[in-house]
Amino acid sequence: ASERDFIFTAQPSRVVFAPGSLQRLPQEVEALGARRALVLCTPQQVALAEATSALLGSASAGVFSGAEMHVPIDSAWRARRHASQVGADCAVAIGGGSTVGLGKAIALESGLPIIAVPTTYAGSEMTPIYGITEVGVKKTGRDLRVLPRTVLYDPELSRHLPVGMSVVSGINAIAHAAEGLYAQDGNPVMSLMAEEGIRALAQGLRGIHRAPADMAARSACLYGAWLCGSVLGHVGMSLHHKLCHTLGGSFNLPHAETHTVVLSHALAYNASAAPQAMARIAAALGAPDAATGVFDLARELGAPTALRDIGMPQDGLPRVLELALSNPYWNPRPLEAEALKELLANAWAGVRPG
Ligand code: NAD
Repeated sequence: ASERDFIFTAQPSRVVFAPGSLQRLPQEVEALGARRALVLCTPQQVALAEATSALLGSASAGVFSGAEMHVPIDSAWRARRHASQVGADCAVAIGGGSTVGLGKAIALESGLPIIAVPTTYAGSEMTPIYGITEVGVKKTGRDLRVLPRTVLYDPELSRHLPVGMSVVSGINAIAHAAEGLYAQDGNPVMSLMAEEGIRALAQGLRGIHRAPADMAARSACLYGAWLCGSVLGHVGMSLHHKLCHTLGGSFNLPHAETHTVVLSHALAYNASAAPQAMARIAAALGAPDAATGVFDLARELGAPTALRDIGMPQDGLPRVLELALSNPYWNPRPLEAEALKELLANAWAGVRPG
């Protein structure tokens, strides 16, 4: 097959992107034919959720503030029960990946339509991927029922996302696009989106680092998050996502920080097997090389660059290696135990790759 051959199944979703787009929420609920929207949030974002509920007026079914990291199964049960008790016919997930994840857990069972209003750059709102954690194990799967019907991207809502969180969340997004560029089931449209997403985030994150409330920079990052999230939703991920899933799931490391540390090392590992993807990533970053470009961006923006600094015990590395080698995802370079061991040692210590 030639390099241009591809199969592309586009996923249905409606995206509204504008500063102040949250104000359109009542119309968007109505457009779905819904009358009682339950607003979901974490305990940290109740004020925003209450304001959102007030905006909906009589179309609000109130606020459920039980969203938690990694969607524990009992939080999903509580949310599903609550949604049915209040007679919700749609849910509005306002927040980061954890809140969108709770909306997906409700939708998986009930088919309730979800409107997502993202306030981080994680990108879950553009994917049919869900994750639910039961007895310490996070199960993930794909189901079109969980894909939000409508996404409102309002850069105003991320104005106060702390710089540190913005940076790791943005590099988390870059990771989706980077692996999308060498995906086995990639396609030229997703590659364009991936490259543009990395470019927008690299520029936007630098802008936020200089001036956290710079709305042009905030807007660039959210635009990049949309592009990178779309890539994650459409094509398969490889070694980097497998490693992060393993580190997050088995050692409870923070999600976005883990992506930030691991990405440069995963790219260095795959560099020789995917030279064209690496060239596009590097160009989008404005750097001579993809792997060191990611590492230097993280360092420049003050993000963590070592697993040991985000809570990873050194004696846990052999277990990560073992898990990474079991049920591996497809990867452009075959998984070699010795080279992966070195990758993990470098990521743990924060060695600049290359
Ligand atoms: P998060 O949703 O856990 O948010 C972290 C904290 O920041 C929360 O307390 C949240 O309320 C707060 N917060 C969010 N936006 C804020 C803002 N603008 N200002 C101030 N505080 C804010 O973190 P995340 O990185 O967005 O999401 C991570 C989770 O999402 C992980 O569990 C990950 O597995 C999942 N995820 C899933 C997919 C998917 O496709 N299914 C994609 C990406 C991430």
